[in-house]
Amino acid sequence: MISGMAYIAPTRPRQVADLPARIVVRAMNARHLSSLPSRAVIREVGLRDGLQSVQTIVPTEHKREWIRAAYEAGQREIEIGSFVPARLLPQLADTAELLDFAGTLPGLFCSVLVPNLRGAELALDHGADLMLVPLSASHAHSLANLRKTPDEVVAEVARMRAARDAAGARTLIEGGVGTAFGCTIQGHVDAAEVLRLMQALLDAGADRVSLADTVGYADPAQVASLFERAVAIAGDRLWCGHFHDTRGLGLANVYAAMQAGVSRFDACLGGIGGCPHAPGASGNVASEDLAYMLGSMGIDTGLDIGALLRLRGRVAGWLAGETLHGTLWRAGLPKTFPGVDAGHDAGLDVPSHCGAATSSTFHA
Ligand SMILES: [Zn+2]
Repeated sequence: MISGMAYIAPTRPRQVADLPARIVVRAMNARHLSSLPSRAVIREVGLRDGLQSVQTIVPTEHKREWIRAAYEAGQREIEIGSFVPARLLPQLADTAELLDFAGTLPGLFCSVLVPNLRGAELALDHGADLMLVPLSASHAHSLANLRKTPDEVVAEVARMRAARDAAGARTLIEGGVGTAFGCTIQGHVDAAEVLRLMQALLDAGADRVSLADTVGYADPAQVASLFERAVAIAGDRLWCGHFHDTRGLGLANVYAAMQAGVSRFDACLGGIGGCPHAPGASGNVASEDLAYMLGSMGIDTGLDIGALLRLRGRVAGWLAGETLHGTLWRAGLPKTFPGVDAGHDAGLDVPSHCGAATSSTFHA
């Protein structure tokens, strides 16, 4: 693993001899809007945010395959799991083992979610590159979900920072401000309170901060407004945008955040996950759909979309009976997409003609 301090964007994935013809997204199109980044990072959070919200417990061996295949597809930032008690989230009980495995993949930047100091100590022990500390700007959600007020979470971050520094570790601390656009319990969440808490996290020693639309309430205008104000406060330390696609606005919200200067986004392969307070809701924006959108716009993600789609098919098999989301897997890449040869399907096991599936790889 790498320290992450100087880490900006993923490097090109290593060549993998057994993969079919690759479509690696490069900045091939002229970008018409100068405010957009030339590169963006998709942080895969399906193994954490996705799997914590589904019933199925995916065996550790399959999760290892997932991490390896995502890495081979070019993913260089993966959230491996959460250090929470296994009785609360049995789906993520193997986080330590997976973090140890992920640490063997050169250049992979591994994050884990930690709700408290105990979790942070485990993240430090297992050499995580980054630990994400969730804070809910909704006081009601914070008490229901974390059993702490937001300011008590800020105080816990200060203790984590002290522990990190005492250990001489390089693990970054990210304070993730959730329910930043509204809350299923409390309803309205005041933007000024979101920004106050973000500043408080930085003051307490968080190296990075991020904003999350935990329940899928955000719209692009709201995102543009809040992210612009957040960038003005945190600058480059505003690390990531996290959007749930609950009401179909996930990609639009990503676009709005990009225009505000953000270039790292959480996403779940197959859009897995959901929200216990919103039945039928999807998880984060689907990684493969986001990679497609960015690639179409000429924004470099370093990702091999064909490999992502094949991995999606495997994950769908492991999650038989669960609902997956996203749209690219159904339609396939258009012939006009950079790198797709109009004469054939470039070796991809993706539906290629008029939406008719050419492969039985997909189970969702
Ligand atoms: Zn989430």
